[in-house]
Amino acid sequence: MSASLRETCAAAQSQLINSLGLEASDARLEAQLLLQTAAHKNRAWLIAHEGEALTDPIVQAFEVLLTRRLQGEPIAYILGVREFYGLNLTVNQDTLIPRPDTETLVDAALAKISNHAAASILDLGTGSGAIALALAKHRPQANVIAADASLAALKIAEKNAQALAIDNVAFILSDWFSQVPQQQFDLIVSNPPYIEKNDIHLSLGDLRFEPLSALASGHDGLDDIRRIIENSLLYLKPQGWLMLEHGYNQATQVTDLMAETGLIDIVTLQDLGGNNRVTVAKNPLIVSKHWD
Ligand code: GLN
Repeated sequence: MSASLRETCAAAQSQLINSLGLEASDARLEAQLLLQTAAHKNRAWLIAHEGEALTDPIVQAFEVLLTRRLQGEPIAYILGVREFYGLNLTVNQDTLIPRPDTETLVDAALAKISNHAAASILDLGTGSGAIALALAKHRPQANVIAADASLAALKIAEKNAQALAIDNVAFILSDWFSQVPQQQFDLIVSNPPYIEKNDIHLSLGDLRFEPLSALASGHDGLDDIRRIIENSLLYLKPQGWLMLEHGYNQATQVTDLMAETGLIDIVTLQDLGGNNRVTVAKNPLIVSKHWD
């Protein structure tokens, strides 16, 4: 007699706890999500059929997905989706997996842009499009440009925009500001790579499977943040804002870099875990800079 759905889930939960060290509740949820994906069913189906035996094709598909997870592949890549700021986003190995920490950046950005303003927003290194799409969704009057140096990532971001029917984001292939149109923005946001290139965390957990170009940035993790800050004044409107996510221990360095460039009103915000995570600064200029 083959195992019931409930028994299959419970066995997978134990394996996930033992192999990956997951919390019991996370392991249970992951087992359920993998089973739903294997069966192409929703949560209601899972609950309704708990006591029943699974068909062989579902068991086989589930085993394949569970094995990938037990080998450490991130659950978001196996499921192909991750929720961010209430949006269901497609993700794959070409994009960073959106983190709850980054919702701090979205909250801060939304607080600066009124609901009715046709604000211009630039998201640098958009990846799956998470930040750009969350801002565009909540500020439908705004015009958002989302840039990434990875064509593969941009394809995912565009797919997400289409699936969510968000049409106020334009996507451009650009290594930071290099291909950004010569215009000035009310708001520039970025969650750039900021991990030190020799950081041990890069060889642990989900990070092993994520694009290194989206995670690591030079010996102190600040190479890309420096490039963004140094060029930001040229692309910010007078009184426009720059907002950067960074490592929990980088707030002082980011603040100093922003101040050296001439940005003002610099404030660091904490993420949900209480870590310094986002630093915000303003272009003080009253009169716009001109392009040569
Ligand atoms: N916050 C991510 C982590 O430390 C890194 C994301 C990034 O480099 N932008 O896992």
